[in-house]
Amino acid sequence: LARELQVLPKPRRLLLIVNPNGGVGLAKKTSDTVIKPMMRLSGLTFKEQYTEYGKHAVDIAHKVDLDQVDALIVVSGDGVLHEVVNGLLTRPDWERARRLPVGIIPAGSGNAFATSVGTKSPYVATLAAIRGTTAKLDIFSLSQLDRPRIYSMLLFSWGMMADADIESDKYRWLGPLRFDIAGVIRAIRLRRYPGKVYVLPPKHKREISSSSSEHGHAPVISYGDLLQPSVQEPPKPWRLLPSMPYYTMLLLLNCSHAGEKIFFTNTIRFNDGIMRLWYSCETRFWKIILPFMVDQTNGKLIHRGLMQDTECGGILIVPGVEGDPEDPNSHEIKDPDSVTGQEAKRLDIHQAPGVFDVDGEVMPTARLLIEILPSFMEILVP
Ligand code: ADP
Ligand code: MG
Repeated sequence: LARELQVLPKPRRLLLIVNPNGGVGLAKKTSDTVIKPMMRLSGLTFKEQYTEYGKHAVDIAHKVDLDQVDALIVVSGDGVLHEVVNGLLTRPDWERARRLPVGIIPAGSGNAFATSVGTKSPYVATLAAIRGTTAKLDIFSLSQLDRPRIYSMLLFSWGMMADADIESDKYRWLGPLRFDIAGVIRAIRLRRYPGKVYVLPPKHKREISSSSSEHGHAPVISYGDLLQPSVQEPPKPWRLLPSMPYYTMLLLLNCSHAGEKIFFTNTIRFNDGIMRLWYSCETRFWKIILPFMVDQTNGKLIHRGLMQDTECGGILIVPGVEGDPEDPNSHEIKDPDSVTGQEAKRLDIHQAPGVFDVDGEVMPTARLLIEILPSFMEILVP
């Protein structure tokens, strides 16, 4: 009998990572009333762990014993999934950790990722976790000089949408509506974001390999030398993206939805291995706000001509600072790296406007290199 029992499949072991504060506080209730009862019926083994502080999920994923779990299931919003991705990919054994399937059961106020993957309903998401079917997931790798690398599974953004996303945090109690409110406020008080954006054509994608440089054994960064401020222009085949020379919106999206109710386009797949960049220099209020009012949920947002799009294999962003504000004739964009001493003080330059938004997390607006790691992780799908 003992030998026969060994032939039986071992029940899969899931670890539920529940953020009791996620969204409007629904995660705990969803877990108790939907997820755990369904999982008990399924006969698989699971453990539940509450996050106890901000970024706790990074630590959980960083330390989890890969011999003891078969999948990590996030019960929260995009923020905690982002933390789990980063916890896994910054492990010394990331090569193995990146193959651990991750799933999301939406219980946050920002559920763009679950909506994109098709697990918007907690029931469907729980069934997906129980069934265990996985798909490949592309990951963006974001590098800045002298800072730990950040990984993203959803979006990177700079400009109006980024500021609205980050500022919306204070309207958390509104649920997904918080993004609309913050967006309108930001469109009224529109800022310009000067800088240069260079893109690498997709066909020049390079193979991912392991490297022991800089941050230990991390997924390699192919164009790390471009992070040096001394590199003024990246060499061909990098090309400069047109600008005014400012942008009002830059958005790099890995899937169809930028928010639970912001259906961008169904031409983007989370596993197509391509980076798509949407950008705009539009400054007229109605031109910006109208597409979001009319087409926010129907996938036609990009058809109104508000944003241009481009496919790329890599992106280098060199944020600038606007020319001397006291000189009305100066529209020159300065590279902050080249501005020194007195001049910097006079212009009061610390950073370019706004923040870089990575899946809802903030990065400073400094020179940034983004590369794609195609099909790098495994995500549970319905
Ligand atoms: P939402 O979609 O509502 O924003 P997220 O999944 O994005 O939900 O989580 C929001 C934030 O909550 C994350 O930045 C996470 O680090 C933080 N967090 C998780 N657990 C706790 C906790 N116990 N106390 C405070 N913050 C937490
Ligand atoms: Mg969030």
